[in-house]
Amino acid sequence: MTSRGQSGPRTLVVAIDGPSGSGKSSVSKAVAARLGFGYLDTGAMYRAVTWWCLDQGIDLDDAEAVAQACRAVPLQMGTDPTDPWVAVDGRRIDAEIRTTELSSVVSRVATNLAVRAELRRRQREIMADLAQQCGGVVAEGRDITTVVAPDADVRILLTASEEARLRRRSTELHGEASDSSIAATRDQIVRRDAEDSTVSTFLVAADGVVLLDTSDLDFDGSVAAVLDIIDGAGERPR
Ligand code: C5P
Repeated sequence: MTSRGQSGPRTLVVAIDGPSGSGKSSVSKAVAARLGFGYLDTGAMYRAVTWWCLDQGIDLDDAEAVAQACRAVPLQMGTDPTDPWVAVDGRRIDAEIRTTELSSVVSRVATNLAVRAELRRRQREIMADLAQQCGGVVAEGRDITTVVAPDADVRILLTASEEARLRRRSTELHGEASDSSIAATRDQIVRRDAEDSTVSTFLVAADGVVLLDTSDLDFDGSVAAVLDIIDGAGERPR
């Protein structure tokens, strides 16, 4: 995954995992933008495959049909951290993949092991291309530090207390963090993470993965903490 010395200029791969509401997407984008790196939102890929299956009328419980659709999907990922996008067959689906309806079924596709194998292959390919083109890549998801890029230069698990994650996601989705909007958000966070954690380890840091708890950090503080970890690893380009 990384290229050190020998063939061409050095590149840097940063892998960031975390549960819903940990802030990993916004923090990863900001870190990538700051370093001039490419950015890969792997969750958006699972969401796009889910959207494609629904669009094609495929039963999400038909594991083989879903796997086949995943292998065939003409998926394009915009990887500029200041303007990331997702398209299928040339059609932008940025808003479509973020609906509550889609969020509530994406785990059914993400727990399909053949889908995971295909997306893992695509993710590694995109990451290698970005590292070459931009000198580095920040990739975020649920299994980047452990499965997709266990040999990444920097591996971070971004966590936050359940309360902090519910508060953040509720504010994002409903514009407030009242008791009722937090209750409405709970399914998106707690149930989805429980389902997702049957196929990926993102609630505890694996060996060699740096744990960063952002419960008491604001956005800028979280970005600074990730940049510090990259610095501390002696990896940040100057
Ligand atoms: O990060 P985000 O909430 O957009 O991820 C959407 C879904 O994609 C997750 O709930 C999970 O089911 C799946 N996912 C995954 N592995 C990843 C990234 C996301 O299974 N690396």
